[in-house]
Amino acid sequence: PPLVSLTGLRKTYGDTVAVHGADLMLRAGEVHALCGHNGAGKSTVVKMLSGQESPDAGTISIAGEVVALRNRGSAQLAGIALVDQELSVVPALTVAENLFLGDRSAGWVHRPRQERARARDMLDEMGLAHVHPDQPLGSLGLGERQLVEIARAMGQRARVVILDEPTATLSDVESERVYAAVRRVAATGCSVLFVSHRLGEVLQLCDRVTVMRDGRVVTVADTAELTVQS
Ligand code: ADP
Ligand code: ADP
Repeated sequence: PPLVSLTGLRKTYGDTVAVHGADLMLRAGEVHALCGHNGAGKSTVVKMLSGQESPDAGTISIAGEVVALRNRGSAQLAGIALVDQELSVVPALTVAENLFLGDRSAGWVHRPRQERARARDMLDEMGLAHVHPDQPLGSLGLGERQLVEIARAMGQRARVVILDEPTATLSDVESERVYAAVRRVAATGCSVLFVSHRLGEVLQLCDRVTVMRDGRVVTVADTAELTVQS
């Protein structure tokens, strides 16, 4: 059974039906691409799965249980983390402070030494061994900040990690580091939803792909079954 099931999701804005009864299934341990042209409904699906918009109809289940996602906080409690384009990390805080932001608002006691040690482990896992936990986050490049945000999601034990066009503004080298981190995240048993416009990275990185057009799901496929003629 899928780890995450979106069933019959529908969302209307005024006269625009942004999403018409879409189904999306994410398996544990997979990287699942969400593709489609501008206006296809991808952002709206992401907003419903991350608690930023409520569906007009349909259900979202995790591990067989229907979850009520009222806002980003309740999505986070349900184990759904969004790594967004605008990045919810705080540049003026240190790397370690950013890694534990969510924990602290959930009532964790601030213990700098332990946090720094744990931050080092988390950074190592993301291929950021060269980054110091006490560095201001703003001193890192965009790709590195993206990796810090992925590490933060993992630290909060997310079961579902959503990346909304994470490589859109990254260099090839930075993109490769994000791909490696995404593979490691999926290897822990999470479902990764990877919104992308780039066919190359979808074929290289993702296990399956759901394609939307005009608010509907038009294709679901294993990327290994897609053949691209050169
Ligand atoms: P994307 O790059 O995901 O296709 P868009 O440019 O379609 O982004 O949309 C950017 C943001 O603007 C999204 O949050 C979307 O919900 C919102 N948006 C898109 N279309 C409209 C609209 N017609 N009216 C108001 N907001 C919109
Ligand atoms: P995508 O992310 O695939 O570009 P969106 O989910 O942003 O697609 O948009 C799907 C449709 O819904 C588009 O026609 C878009 O203009 C419309 N839409 C999205 N958000 C809003 C909004 N906040 N208000 C009005 N229309 C919106």
